[in-house]
Amino acid sequence: MTEVPSFDYAGRVARCRVTMERFGIDVLLASLGSELPYLTGYQAMPLERLTMAVIPRDGDATLVVPRLEAPRVERHDDVFEVLAWGETENPIEIVGNLIGSRNVAAIGDRTWAVFLLELQAALPATEFTSARDLTAALRLIKEPAEIDLLRRAAEAVDRVAARLATHHFAGKTERRLSREVIDMTREEGCETVDFAIVASGPNGASPHHEPDERVIGPGDSVVIDFGGTVHGYHSDTTRTFHVGEPTADYREVYEVVRQAQAAGADAVQPGIEAQAVDAVARDIITAAGYGDYFIHRLGHGIGLDGHEDPYLVSGNTQSLEPGMAFSIEPGIYLPGRFGVRIEDIVICTDEGVDRLNRSPRELIVVG
Ligand code: ZN
Ligand code: ZN
Repeated sequence: MTEVPSFDYAGRVARCRVTMERFGIDVLLASLGSELPYLTGYQAMPLERLTMAVIPRDGDATLVVPRLEAPRVERHDDVFEVLAWGETENPIEIVGNLIGSRNVAAIGDRTWAVFLLELQAALPATEFTSARDLTAALRLIKEPAEIDLLRRAAEAVDRVAARLATHHFAGKTERRLSREVIDMTREEGCETVDFAIVASGPNGASPHHEPDERVIGPGDSVVIDFGGTVHGYHSDTTRTFHVGEPTADYREVYEVVRQAQAAGADAVQPGIEAQAVDAVARDIITAAGYGDYFIHRLGHGIGLDGHEDPYLVSGNTQSLEPGMAFSIEPGIYLPGRFGVRIEDIVICTDEGVDRLNRSPRELIVVG
């Protein structure tokens, strides 16, 4: 097992308060979203009982938890006080009292809607707003310890990709191969495995295909997109394998995607707009005549969430900065025929790109 990192939660909450000031927010309410573990080290269970950190800009932070969950809370007395509520108490009233007369409350976007509705009814004078931009800004630049965990998660899935290159595909159903990928991802060190897309033959034309009973056979392209977590930090990689010798057509499509992926990654540097990196990769696919078949954005940020800011998509003028982590994942999806996608997680550094995933991107033929 890997060593558990110790994060500077007090520093993060201090930075949160400065950011709240910038956004005109008086109190942050963090419940089920990743902002809660980011700021407190505690991950709430998605229960019907309310868990909520109340972090005022001008006062002490309190973590309100159901009493039966309190033993799971790792105490950080310098960061927040724990207030455990009993089964007969009303947690909305408790949170309401902590918010008090503060004007603008920002609420995490994964909070159950029912809790927001109850808080709005209890505090008619308080303005409730989304904490999305605030929490995204906080988590956008990864600390070295976070990058270390992202790297360990990426190395784990790279080891799985290496095993897949010599793995036997033909005759297995997508569902069986998906289960094998999930097992391997655990064996290689991920604590949770979020997904293992296995999309063979024509199914590969659907980027998020749910593995089914289709039997993989010679002549199939097989898109495998999978990832897991190390101490809460995600990995996400895609390699496309070919069962038996590919056709010239297939080789051409594969090569276009490979070049687009390489060019997108190489374009990463501080100051470039997120949408410009998307454009670099997309232009290569469009010039080859497949522009209509690259049907999604180039990439997404990654950290405590599998998908988070920054998004590499046309329209996003956000400039990349050192410490940002995101995927580069172009694809070509030909309906009724096959799909090809290649995905790596990369870090923007002062020197340019640092690829966390390093398994080979050349066409891989399997049996
Ligand atoms: Zn993926
Ligand atoms: Zn991805």
